[in-house]
Amino acid sequence: MRRIVLTGFRGTGKTEIGKILALQNTVQFFDTDSLIELATGRSIPDIFHEDGEERFRNIEREVIASLPPADAVVSTGGGAVVDPANMERLRRDSVMVLLFADIDTIEKRLENAPRPPLTGLPLREEIAEIMDRRRHRYYASADLCIDTSGTTPADAAGTISALLRDGVPAAASRKEALAFFRGGRIPGPSMRRLEQVLDDPPDDPLTRVLGVAGYPCAHSRGPYLFNALFSRFGLNCQYTWFEDPDIGKIMRLARNLDVKGLSVTIPFKQDVMTCLDEIDEHAARPIGAVNTVVFACGSAIGHNTDWLGIRKPLVSLKGARAVLLGAGGAAAAAAYALVDLGMDTTVLNRTPQKAKDLAERAGCRWAGWDSFDDLRPDLVVNATPLGMAPDTGSPLNEEQLYPELTVFDLVYTPPLTPLLEAAQRKGCRTISGTEMFIEQAREQFYLFFGIDVPSETIRKYLT
Ligand code: NAP
Repeated sequence: MRRIVLTGFRGTGKTEIGKILALQNTVQFFDTDSLIELATGRSIPDIFHEDGEERFRNIEREVIASLPPADAVVSTGGGAVVDPANMERLRRDSVMVLLFADIDTIEKRLENAPRPPLTGLPLREEIAEIMDRRRHRYYASADLCIDTSGTTPADAAGTISALLRDGVPAAASRKEALAFFRGGRIPGPSMRRLEQVLDDPPDDPLTRVLGVAGYPCAHSRGPYLFNALFSRFGLNCQYTWFEDPDIGKIMRLARNLDVKGLSVTIPFKQDVMTCLDEIDEHAARPIGAVNTVVFACGSAIGHNTDWLGIRKPLVSLKGARAVLLGAGGAAAAAAYALVDLGMDTTVLNRTPQKAKDLAERAGCRWAGWDSFDDLRPDLVVNATPLGMAPDTGSPLNEEQLYPELTVFDLVYTPPLTPLLEAAQRKGCRTISGTEMFIEQAREQFYLFFGIDVPSETIRKYLT
């Protein structure tokens, strides 16, 4: 039997429900908090008091690493999901069930329970603060989401058993999705795999679908990368192409199919925002674009990982003088990243009004397209499509480049653009758009599954 792992905040019923599920499936039950107490001979509050949270988390990591890989039901401590190493181990070949409940229910259930000192706040405030802090980590831990607020442990266990048997999406939703994908441009082997996932009955009702939403997006290599990562991390998922001119239709289909997550690409990064239940603080305002949607507990939550993909390769240039070429979607993410790194940033764009608008939104400067030579920056970021077919020119001439300049070209097809070639000839430090692609994909994977994939692993699967 595939291992069942229960995650969620304290007081959501993991231990009681886990015991029932283990009995019903005649497998062993493991409660990570009890295993920690057994291993140390001390209570969890005592470990927190005497050794601190860090020591507790180290023991918890060891306990999770020692759990059997199958034929078991595991109840995890409320904070276990925060550690990517735990998520990598717990998620492998397992079905993850997130239990949640409303704050009144949790407060009532925890009123008289001894608790480790996590914040020093009164109980209700502590619950609200920690649930909010861990919310996205819980979502990442969820294959199934079960609200235990108004239920008994036996009823909740019954609901989980039914979902484990039948999966979440209705047969009609699978059929609708299959027709959608059959009408698209999905390559033969990928289509055959999707048919196994969506046929009636499906090969495995618990296989989660993810994908890239765009128009067009059939050229995206995302499915090959993500599917390779699913094999590497033992995740029961299939990633595919959601190609359609109507993002509303894609989102409806995704909700009905209980999709785990979507990568969003051109031309939907702004339009998708009207189809979401929540948008994170970075994506919502200064950037104004979403490239990642996580579906969990009935909600679709938008994030932007593009800015993190641009930020990461530039961390060593904190405080530099930067010029940003372009004022579209990628430029908005870049402006946010450059300002976040404390760079003195100037936006240059073919249409000056758009440079002005972006600069005002991001809190930086703007200037005319031909001001580059006067500015003589330490860093230039190309966020125009120049260098990519059909316009394979360069936004700057070779004579405008100098060895002290770092050149980051966000274009990643081809990996070596005319701008980067010229910069290399001039002795500049160069960063390819592939670096942004790798880092934004890594952040997406973390939002989807809570697992921290090394950049090198992604690089390996891309080549
Ligand atoms: P976008 O929203 O369409 O914006 C394009 C920007 O480039 C606009 O500011 C536009 O200026 C400017 N531009 C277009 N053609 C130009 C030309 N011939 N000369 C000068 N400026 C020109 O596109 P986007 O989504 O920001 O994408 C921009 C580039 O970033 C794409 O090439 C894409 O490949 C790359 N990208 C890379 C990654 C990655 O992971 N590496 C991720 C996302 C995007 P106007 O305002 O005057 O029209």
